[in-house]
Amino acid sequence: MSETSRFPSIAKLERRMRPGGYSTQGFLGPIESLQVVIARDQETLENLGVSHEEIAEALENILQVVKEQISQLLQFRQRGEKVQEYRKRGEEYSARSVHIPDLYHHESIPSFSLENLPSVDQGYLVGNKFHVFIAQYRGLQECPWECEHEEWSSFDFLLLNREIGEYVTGPGMIVHLLRKHHFFEGLESPYRVDPARAVRVLGLGSNTTIK
Ligand SMILES: [Zn+2]
Repeated sequence: MSETSRFPSIAKLERRMRPGGYSTQGFLGPIESLQVVIARDQETLENLGVSHEEIAEALENILQVVKEQISQLLQFRQRGEKVQEYRKRGEEYSARSVHIPDLYHHESIPSFSLENLPSVDQGYLVGNKFHVFIAQYRGLQECPWECEHEEWSSFDFLLLNREIGEYVTGPGMIVHLLRKHHFFEGLESPYRVDPARAVRVLGLGSNTTIK
């Protein structure tokens, strides 16, 4: 028996994904077709020679490092830690937590580029290459496929590759959506992660040198 058979029907999924369904802004535009979106993105990835899983994994690794940096800053005062040091961590956390990206207002997202790179005192650096901004939300976004696993569904991210000056935005949940459902979200959704852009930012694909 295929696993797909346990999933809701396409019609049901599309209803949930429309604006005002499972999310106010929607996983899909008002008339977009889920199957068309998935098929088109599949084709894009095939042309680029990259899989959904590769993108999910690369994103997950980066976001995991950021999560660890954040939880270190937010840790309770450690045994032997001076009050000043503890306070400094708190201040550093505040400085780094600029609310970027606001996917509800795309026009508010700074247009970073090689000529306009953000200060490294804001957001989180992963190595020298990746610069990540996290916008945290209260509440969890449910998966339209009714999955129980909903890790990382309460934040959005902006991932900038400082070497090429290009960035991609999306919800933390995209790691799950890509891995389990091969879904980048609809072209009309503010949460969409553009596949080609993600591949460039992450430095994946056949044209990139393997480290
Ligand atoms: Zn799911």
